[in-house]
Amino acid sequence: MSGADPYTELRHAMVEGQIRARGVSDQRLLAAMRKIPRHFFVPPAYERAAYQDNPLPIGEGQTISQPYIVAVMTELLALKPGDTVLEIGTGSGYQAAILGELVGRVISVERIASVAEQAGENLKRAGVGNVTIIVGDGTKGYPAEAPYDAILITAATPTVPEPLIEQMAEGGRLVAPTGPRDCQDLVRLVKRGGQVERTTFGGVCFVPLIGEYGWRGAD
Ligand code: SAM
Repeated sequence: MSGADPYTELRHAMVEGQIRARGVSDQRLLAAMRKIPRHFFVPPAYERAAYQDNPLPIGEGQTISQPYIVAVMTELLALKPGDTVLEIGTGSGYQAAILGELVGRVISVERIASVAEQAGENLKRAGVGNVTIIVGDGTKGYPAEAPYDAILITAATPTVPEPLIEQMAEGGRLVAPTGPRDCQDLVRLVKRGGQVERTTFGGVCFVPLIGEYGWRGAD
């Protein structure tokens, strides 16, 4: 990144007004959201809208999630600096960039090749160097680098895909929008002693996770 950032003030206001004011308190997360230029992750036509309190279209019928939801899901993962994180649904790459600020390594799987390619460009422009994007069906996870300390699914799934549960490390956390195709509950799984504890949080509305262990068929 070089030159003055015209959106610094708007970004700080986003963190204060939309995120901290609603109860997100993880200081490392708040700092990451103050730092990462969200306007690099939206199509040029939406640049001025990048710091608004809503999701935005990124093409191919997909979206960059609302900043507050990015913050809530990330906080629920209880990340530690040495963690390796698997994200399913790269989209714009913004969530991956926030995760990359908080941990050592992020692997992010995206189903649509053109979306993955744009995300790669966005991450490069933002100077994020610890995110690896994989094109494929993320409902199968990414066994090559498992197990993961944290797994984040950023698309709506009817149930948490079994391969992703298998790829959780002992003590690992998984967060996913789970339930009906239109709107879902945010669910967190924690693996302890080989068993999975499940906690349900508030309602969210995500685009569908399409794949072998998610929703079947076209979007
Ligand atoms: N995390 C993204 C961001 O920061 O912009 C937002 C994700 S968007 C709401 C959901 C993404 O999940 C879309 O890009 C969609 O193509 C992707 N997706 C849907 N099914 C998938 C699957 N089986 N594997 C990987 N990605 C999938």
